[in-house]
Amino acid sequence: MSVLPNAVKTSEGVSVNGFLLSPVVEQCSGCDRVRQFEEQEFCSSYPNPGGKWAGGQCNFATHIKNQSAAAVKVNPLKASKRAAKGR
Ligand code: SF4
Repeated sequence: MSVLPNAVKTSEGVSVNGFLLSPVVEQCSGCDRVRQFEEQEFCSSYPNPGGKWAGGQCNFATHIKNQSAAAVKVNPLKASKRAAKGR
């Protein structure tokens, strides 16, 4: 796993470019954006991974992309109606 670039340890926690970071959450496990720093894991894209998952699935997660894309695209009923109408 890659190391988190520009990370520094401050008295308030781990910080990158002035932003305090929270460690990744359980759902992030397997995502390519997870980075390691000081025995903890952080997201290279979001300072607060827990917040990304609070409203549902993280839209930047690399490990579940295919599932979410499939869930959004495939609605067989609508697809067959559209096909029947010829558009
Ligand atoms: S991109 Fe999303 S799933 Fe991946 S590590 Fe960051 S917050 Fe977690």
